[in-house]
Amino acid sequence: MKDRIELHGKFFKPFMSNAQVEKIIDGVAEKLNRDFASGDEVPMFLCVLNGAIMFTAAVMKRVHFNAELVSIKMSSYQGTTSTGTVLVPLGLTGSVKGRNVIVFEDIVDTGNTIIALKELLLSKGARDVRICTMLMKPEVYNKPEKLDYVGAEIPNAFIVGYGLDYDELGRNYDKIYVLDE
Ligand code: 5GP
Repeated sequence: MKDRIELHGKFFKPFMSNAQVEKIIDGVAEKLNRDFASGDEVPMFLCVLNGAIMFTAAVMKRVHFNAELVSIKMSSYQGTTSTGTVLVPLGLTGSVKGRNVIVFEDIVDTGNTIIALKELLLSKGARDVRICTMLMKPEVYNKPEKLDYVGAEIPNAFIVGYGLDYDELGRNYDKIYVLDE
């Protein structure tokens, strides 16, 4: 594992190995496989671009039930902090009317993004909305909304890798790094 990476002049040190990330993803897929084993419903996986691309793809490869895939682009982070304002630069790529939607997020921080997204999906006629996130920061999450599938909880730190970026860099790493201050 590369010791330290530099993105836009900031240094990041190793936080999670690829094996740890894969184990987290295995756990999420196992729960989904259990919950959707009956095959009675075909849920829609909603990938929140761009951060959740790797996570969504990895989970999709591990599930054994039929599921569709749609995407949306949301953003609230500028640099290494949340702005509190959620923008939707790219709308839903398919209709969610009457569907059971599972939102795939890379990480839930304050929860502003997923709450805004859940409201948007319900306003577009989604029947049910569940949240599935690779990681979450319990110290920062301040919403009453329950998160249905959580890969792992992490401390309040800024991380990159496995889809997560620092101003668009760092998404390509297959492990996770944390800001080294
Ligand atoms: P929230 O709206 O929950 O505060 O933030 C969620 C979004 O902020 C995530 O989808 C992600 O894009 C970004 N974010 C939150 N924490 C981190 C982090 O530690 N690293 C990176 N790269 N992005 C984060």
